[in-house]
Amino acid sequence: MARYTDASCRQCRRIGEKLFLKGERCYTPRCAVERRKNPPGDRSLKRRRASDWSLQLREKQKARFSYGVLERQFRKYFDMARERPGVTGDNLLQYLERRLDNVVYRLAFAGSRKQGRQLVTHGHFTVNDKKMDIPSYLVETGDVVKWKGANGSIPEFGKTIMESGGRLSTPGWLKVDPDKGQAEVLGEPTLGAIESDIDVRLIVEFYSK
Ligand code: SF4
Repeated sequence: MARYTDASCRQCRRIGEKLFLKGERCYTPRCAVERRKNPPGDRSLKRRRASDWSLQLREKQKARFSYGVLERQFRKYFDMARERPGVTGDNLLQYLERRLDNVVYRLAFAGSRKQGRQLVTHGHFTVNDKKMDIPSYLVETGDVVKWKGANGSIPEFGKTIMESGGRLSTPGWLKVDPDKGQAEVLGEPTLGAIESDIDVRLIVEFYSK
């Protein structure tokens, strides 16, 4: 019998793809996308022809859900990306990648971005030896992100998370020292390292209407 799945899984089902929002569970047969192919609330399996606008909207929502960003903040990133020299879509991805909750996830200090956000909000990390509990903080080159345990050590639960991590390889713009539970930001996220299947071109088209 079908079982209630929480909001994260509904987001994946709405998009129709695995967005890996729940950590380890996403890699198991318990994944809601594996078990139920149709979007929530849609009992028909008939395919409808998607308009250009709906494809653009879907891609924007996919990026938003993946990074756990609300519409207003996402739009702000887009405006910042547009004002910056370079390709708007690439700039947008770079802003999203530089968020502290994403960095914590990329470092395998958290099993998902959602967990990364929770850990940051609860004050478990420092940036340059100062407590940082803002998940949207954008890391800069030279920043050092570190677990904030007692006496500068990694908290026990942090060690458990790190041991169970390892599905993602650390991108080249981050240099991690797992023994010290810290990492240094070496530069801007490079597009090759972002490993995103988000079609930013569609997002740019969505906001350009
Ligand atoms: Fe849920 Fe993860 Fe599967 Fe998405 S990928 S439906 S979050 S289990």
